[in-house]
Amino acid sequence: MGHVKLHIPGPVEVSEKTFRAFCQPMIGHRSQAFKDLYASIQPRLQALLYTRQPVMLSTSSAWGVMEGAVRNLVHKKVLNCMCGAFSDKWYDVSKRCGKEAEPLQVPWGSPIRADAIDKRLATGEFDAITVIHNETSTGVMSPLAEIAELKKKYPDVMFIIDCVSSMSAVKIEFDALGIDVMLAGTQKALALPPGLTIFTFSEAALQKASKAKDRGYYFDFVEFRKNADQNMTPSTPSIAHVYALASKLEEIFAEGLDARFARHRQTSQGTRDWAAKHGFTLFPDPGFESMTLTCVNNGAKPGGRVIDVPKFQKLVREMGFLIDGGYGKIKGTTFRISNMGDETPETMAQLYAAMDEAISKL
Ligand SMILES: *Cc1c(COP(=O)(O)O)cnc(C)c1O
Repeated sequence: MGHVKLHIPGPVEVSEKTFRAFCQPMIGHRSQAFKDLYASIQPRLQALLYTRQPVMLSTSSAWGVMEGAVRNLVHKKVLNCMCGAFSDKWYDVSKRCGKEAEPLQVPWGSPIRADAIDKRLATGEFDAITVIHNETSTGVMSPLAEIAELKKKYPDVMFIIDCVSSMSAVKIEFDALGIDVMLAGTQKALALPPGLTIFTFSEAALQKASKAKDRGYYFDFVEFRKNADQNMTPSTPSIAHVYALASKLEEIFAEGLDARFARHRQTSQGTRDWAAKHGFTLFPDPGFESMTLTCVNNGAKPGGRVIDVPKFQKLVREMGFLIDGGYGKIKGTTFRISNMGDETPETMAQLYAAMDEAISKL
């Protein structure tokens, strides 16, 4: 059997064109050629993130920068907003970094709301919060604009936002939101291979990082900024990823950002329609469904159809598609289908047809 096409929520399917871009001759990371390459993509990265701040490239998966943000920016105490496996883990990571941390836990399937954050920040104990915009384990997208509004009330609190599975698929205007850190790994919505993280931070975050004693080296935000000002990275980056990113950015701006956002709205709605057609309900609270993946309820919450997920996955896989069988404590009682990256209504229709056939064989 040939390649099984990925419809798991990361890593997602990588196009032939992207792989070709990946495989170009190496250049020195301190050479003019590299500086020219980074400089050439910087304006598009800034347009993608809706920012005038320099955009950084970290050769790591997202967790590197998620941990780095805590090390650079938490000097007092961090409020970790938790609504699923990734956001829950950030609390654990904060403590492992030796930071004072407090959980703000909501039930899996629910979003993080501004009111709850406001109540905790009002204590004055915190100098940072972490929020995951699109919690990939539950398929929940929290209302970022509402959360970012709080920044006006708490200007000294660092707002660290993970946009790993939403950046480039949903409009997130970094400067206008007034948040402090935004980051995303490349193997999710950007449809590149894993290994690179794109991030940016505010001037306030840079100032604050410069005062952190134990920020280490590899994820030192001050080093990133100093190097980015020269179109370089602190250490040798995955240059292949930078080639691939340049190619992807060309595609993104040829399609147009608004068209790209609309495509994700359309394909996520298509998957929700597929689920409804087969009698399933969704795991997220209504109104907070992700635009990049669909987390289908399969007994985790009352109501809706329940199927044998491993058998369903196996049948779908035999037809050439890999879907996810649920993550963490909702493995098997949910399943997840990704529409991230290059997927179109046409390519999603092929997946729905395979899933229709698999369902009929259960
Ligand atoms: C995948 C994911 C991560 C972790 O990414 P790694 O690449 O494993 O470091 C973090 N946050 C979210 C929302 C994710 O989807």
